[in-house]
Amino acid sequence: MAETTSEQELITKDESRQDREKISTWWFVGITGVAVGIYLLVYWNWVSMPTALRRADEARHPERFIAEVAKQHLFEMSNVGPRVAGSYANEVLTVGFLRRVIEEVAANAHPAQRVEIEVQRATGDMFLDYTNYPQTSVYRGIQNVVARIVPATGPDPDNYLMLGSHFDSVPQSPGAGDDGTMSVVMLEVLRKVSQLPEPLAHGLVFVFNGCEENTLQGSHAFVAHHRWFQKVRAFINMDVAANGGRDIMFQAGPKYSFLMEYYRDNVPHPYCTAVAEELFQADLVPSETDFYVYSKFGKVPGMDFAHSTWGYLYHTAYDAYDTIPNETLQHTGDNVLALTKALANADELYAIGEHEGSKAVFFDFLNWFLVYYPLWASILLNLGLSAVALAAIGVSLWLTMRRTKASLRSMSIQCLVSVGVILLSIVVGVGLSLVLGIILNAVGSSMSWFTQTWLIFGLYITPYLIATSTGPFLFTRFVRNDQLPLQARVQLLLHATCLIYIIILIVLTAMSIRSGYLFTLAILFYTVTTLVNLLLQHTTNYWIYVHLIGQIIPIAYYSSISLTSFATFIPMQGRGNAGSNPELLIGLFGVLIGLLITGFLTPLVALARKAYLFIGLQVVFFVVSIIVMVTAAGFPFRAHVTPQRYYVYHIERNFYHRNGTLRRSESKFYLHPQDRHTPDLIMDEVPEMARATQLGDECDRELYCGIPFYQNSHHGQRENAWWLPAGKPNFPQPVDFRHTGSQYDPGTNATTFRFRVTGTDHMSFYVSPVYGVRLVGWSFSDAIPRSGRSWNGQDVHYINFVHGIDDSAYEFSITTQGSALKPWEEDWHFYLSVVAQYMHHEEYRTEEFRTFIGHFPDYAHVVAYPAYLETLRPPLDYRPIGVEDIPYRQRDEWKSASTVVQSITTGGQPLGVILSGNPPRS
Ligand SMILES: [Zn+2]
Repeated sequence: MAETTSEQELITKDESRQDREKISTWWFVGITGVAVGIYLLVYWNWVSMPTALRRADEARHPERFIAEVAKQHLFEMSNVGPRVAGSYANEVLTVGFLRRVIEEVAANAHPAQRVEIEVQRATGDMFLDYTNYPQTSVYRGIQNVVARIVPATGPDPDNYLMLGSHFDSVPQSPGAGDDGTMSVVMLEVLRKVSQLPEPLAHGLVFVFNGCEENTLQGSHAFVAHHRWFQKVRAFINMDVAANGGRDIMFQAGPKYSFLMEYYRDNVPHPYCTAVAEELFQADLVPSETDFYVYSKFGKVPGMDFAHSTWGYLYHTAYDAYDTIPNETLQHTGDNVLALTKALANADELYAIGEHEGSKAVFFDFLNWFLVYYPLWASILLNLGLSAVALAAIGVSLWLTMRRTKASLRSMSIQCLVSVGVILLSIVVGVGLSLVLGIILNAVGSSMSWFTQTWLIFGLYITPYLIATSTGPFLFTRFVRNDQLPLQARVQLLLHATCLIYIIILIVLTAMSIRSGYLFTLAILFYTVTTLVNLLLQHTTNYWIYVHLIGQIIPIAYYSSISLTSFATFIPMQGRGNAGSNPELLIGLFGVLIGLLITGFLTPLVALARKAYLFIGLQVVFFVVSIIVMVTAAGFPFRAHVTPQRYYVYHIERNFYHRNGTLRRSESKFYLHPQDRHTPDLIMDEVPEMARATQLGDECDRELYCGIPFYQNSHHGQRENAWWLPAGKPNFPQPVDFRHTGSQYDPGTNATTFRFRVTGTDHMSFYVSPVYGVRLVGWSFSDAIPRSGRSWNGQDVHYINFVHGIDDSAYEFSITTQGSALKPWEEDWHFYLSVVAQYMHHEEYRTEEFRTFIGHFPDYAHVVAYPAYLETLRPPLDYRPIGVEDIPYRQRDEWKSASTVVQSITTGGQPLGVILSGNPPRS
């Protein structure tokens, strides 16, 4: 009896002590409100842009970038329609526009500055060594508009800073954002620099690349074939995957960290993070910029700027002039102009080789200032900080032991159990989110957050929060500990969280992953508040205030990282791989953001008087999110704002026997998948889709499915592609492909086959020698590169060919070598496919094609054009059957009449116009 009573008394005592240490649940609602408030404030700060200057402001601010001038140029530039390389709009109208503006700049330049302009026309090739689908990229007669600013008197500078952007666009897009924005920013920077009264220490080269969208060929042409590039020491590249927003500097170097010092010291609106650089360079972002060519082929250090947030309209017909705010132009112009002026006077450019440094950790804090330190410093910082944090935790534990008279053994067990509880809560939270992601994807409910972005918080972050606040709550409630007061136990859980972060940070540091700074920040602030609490020695309640105040800056920073990453990666899921699960990526981002923002908050829930109420509120939010998700509001796409993307090619395919007779000929509508919902959403809406099937065994029967893929990598999505029978497409100029002769060399047992083809400006070739035959030479490039993914055991080489202003017949040769036993000339031992993509010829859509496209729902953005494929294994006198000599309707006066023009102007007076060309590579 007595014993029982005393036990009950003990429990009552223990509970009343715990109760005294508990906090009202409303506090937690308040803390949640403050965290959400910080998030919203950070958002407001993020979207607040500098005031755009007008022409009228120029008299008062003669040195500043004028957004209105850039915007007027953008109007002209985006008014000519899509600027696809090889089209009249690109090669004549836009080249002419850029020349006119630059010549005007030259005419009004300060007498101290000399402005020169050239239109480069180039022919060349490069090999893009992509993992499964490498390609040889060949270009002929593509055009870049290049300008430079040098001192009007004295010798030419020996060192140049280069600025680059591209003026071509993708098909069917006015390309106001991509990359009209950066082209007009560059024009305005050119104008402002040309008016400086003092000459700059270094020359400035402005490259307006005329062929970027087709595998970065224009920048390669400048690097490989233009004499000005020889003196380029550093560059700033500018591209766009969005409409509006801030320009993020998302990759720099590699290894030339002094560039970051100039960025830190000169740029008025910093916006950058090493996380973006690492994600981009790890190929987690499905795009490439000219930065790749300048740094990889040109071996010059530089920086890459882009607009990257909310890129729903990027590469669509909605990428229009009125979607680009003047404030965005001002923001980018301010940054680029300041950086250009600083780097154009940088001493480092005199001897760039001596300034090769290391990679760096860099990030802006709320666009206010830049934090930057080299990699070696980050290693010292991370290790030093981890040691201090461990020491602070150690002292804190020792003080608790002394106060509570707990033994070292019981304290050690408590620590281990606390780490286990936090770890288990995180694992369960991550698991819940991932399981939900797998379920939603499986039942076809994926991408509900594509338009309603807040659903990510409800669907993925909330389950994580429920798990990470329930774990500590259940642990302190149901696992009794007579020695440690409740608040000491919660402190232990916080220490455990910090310990886990330290382990993560050390692993990331060992792997040289600079994004680990995210954890540096969390550990730093937690350590500081732990030290403050050690000094103050408050035992109950007060330590919580100190701890919470220390969380404000990390929460603000993680909110800004959250905004940037979601705004970049959500729209990207609309142009991804149809076979992947977008829920997993977005769910993981959500969990990571949840971990960073709330890691040091959720263990506090164990202190709430009615913790179950607080956790219940989270459950309610989760349920509400699920309900919204299944209603119409959770439908991923909206017309004009967040459209769903489709590529539809009206294809004709002709396969020939080796004797030259047609083996197979057919026409189809081909749907290239873009996202998780191709094509399930249109199956009921588009009546023609009733006839659609997947490719089945077609990819085994014909080389690379016999599909006229635009890019080799599209073959990688063949499992998710669909097609349906169709009538014949219209082609402005049908492909005329001929074998023009062969030459057998008995010495090497090799035969060279020569071909000639006419068609359109975007063509591709597949070369695939049969087993046992070697491809030993071709005219596309000096060396035969490695094969892409094999087809039926055969090597497959892909050549992407684009011509700009030169549309004369294209001639090429292929040399193969057979076994010594066979007289070689009697047979043809390789497959050769010719692809033609008529991508800026929408007006050639047939009635049937137009009707089909017309049936697509209004939220669909359909890129649609005719494409052609022809596969040969013919005898030597092969002549395609059924192709007549139709006059080339597109071969207008403009192409043959065009010449490459180089005009040189100076401050005030044009010196003259010189006709010249950039010679093809010898
Ligand atoms: Zn671009």
